Amino acid sequence: MIGRRTLSRLFQGHHGPFKMQVRHLNLLEYQSHKLLRDFNIPVPNGLVVTSAEEARKVVSDISAPSVLKAQVLAGGRGKGKYDSDGKGGVRIVTWPKEAYENASQMLGYHLTTKQTPPGGLFVNKLYIYKAVDVADEFYLALTFDRGRGMPVLLISDVGGTNIESNIDKLQKFWFHLPTGLTTEIISYIQAQLGFSDKEMVVVDKILHQMIKLFREKDATLLELNPLVRTHDGKFICLDAKFSFDNAARFRQEELFSLEERSPEEEVEYQASKLGLSYVRLDGNIGNIVNGAGLAMATNDLISLYGGKCANFLDVGGGATKQTLSKAFEILNNDSRIKGILVNIYGGIVRCDMIAESIVAAANATGGFKVPVVVRLQGTNCPQALQLIENSGLDNVIVDADFESAAQMIVDRVGNM
Ligand code: GDP
Ligand code: MN
Repeated sequence: MIGRRTLSRLFQGHHGPFKMQVRHLNLLEYQSHKLLRDFNIPVPNGLVVTSAEEARKVVSDISAPSVLKAQVLAGGRGKGKYDSDGKGGVRIVTWPKEAYENASQMLGYHLTTKQTPPGGLFVNKLYIYKAVDVADEFYLALTFDRGRGMPVLLISDVGGTNIESNIDKLQKFWFHLPTGLTTEIISYIQAQLGFSDKEMVVVDKILHQMIKLFREKDATLLELNPLVRTHDGKFICLDAKFSFDNAARFRQEELFSLEERSPEEEVEYQASKLGLSYVRLDGNIGNIVNGAGLAMATNDLISLYGGKCANFLDVGGGATKQTLSKAFEILNNDSRIKGILVNIYGGIVRCDMIAESIVAAANATGGFKVPVVVRLQGTNCPQALQLIENSGLDNVIVDADFESAAQMIVDRVGNM
């Protein structure tokens, strides 16, 4: 695949006034293949394995040369390097025994490619299919040209692993999503790539389906590389890379459910679903704050007094009992946390509702296990502080002053 940096060099320019941080959902190859299959774009019938023994079994069932491919969210696997045996992440094997030996060096190790972080990516799945007899490799991709505000088709007859060095040989065709590629473009592609009429019917159908998928799934990138032509004139896509617009999460639920997250990302994700912004930090003081500004100020003040925050947890302006109970749940499940500071400014939210939520959260878990300092200020603050005092919760200290509250939690945690 073409690296994101190269793509943005092509289309997003560096001179624009706005640099937006956009997150995209990426899929692993086997997931991309399934999606392509759903849209009638030809792909191999691959299987996913997680052990060398399974790899042996699959290749024995295929009983023909087979391809073993590391499943990581990065391209350039073929030319990558494993920290086990120094070989790449795409390997063709002939015998089941060979499959077992190679899979043993691929599963449970890190693969480094031009597109991975320096230490590489951990591989826990391989995708295996019967090797295809490749005659030619093509590159086909759809993405958005932000400069022109239009989708663009990129196409090349020197597809495969050298695409990054052949970037200037890519042909570009801009089009409109509702109408797709014009007959002029199709004829031009046929002439440029030298497809016969019969072949062009097949390629035209693939292009048509790619655009349909791109549109229906809110993709921002759909790349087939290589789309190969076999010696008997068939077309099949061996590798694909997709990205989807994160802003489309709400209408692409099925797609986004495929997203793989590390345990830490999972917490952030669950929090974000409830409108909480959660960021994990290295310290041991848990924070529950409303508003990003107050969250940063709290973080700074805790550092000033010599403490370290375990997180940045913003329950937002519209905090409710439900979001607060989720916030406490996240902190309760984090064994690093030795104390909690709740710092809420009741502007839109009422402090007494926050106080009730704190008491409810404490009661739900049989009391707080770590000291909790609660600083409330704003609407209905006196009632709120009273409510907490009356609740008889030990381990909870209330304070209306931000500075002394921050100092207090740092002292408590420091003395433990
Ligand atoms: P990437 O290196 O991460 O882009 O992984 P690819 O899936 O694109 O594989 C890299 C290269 O391996 C492809 O460009 C092909 O040249 C080759 N390759 C992959 N599958 C097959 C296959 O079934 N048969 C043959 N002959 N080559 C393959
Ligand atoms: Mn590829």
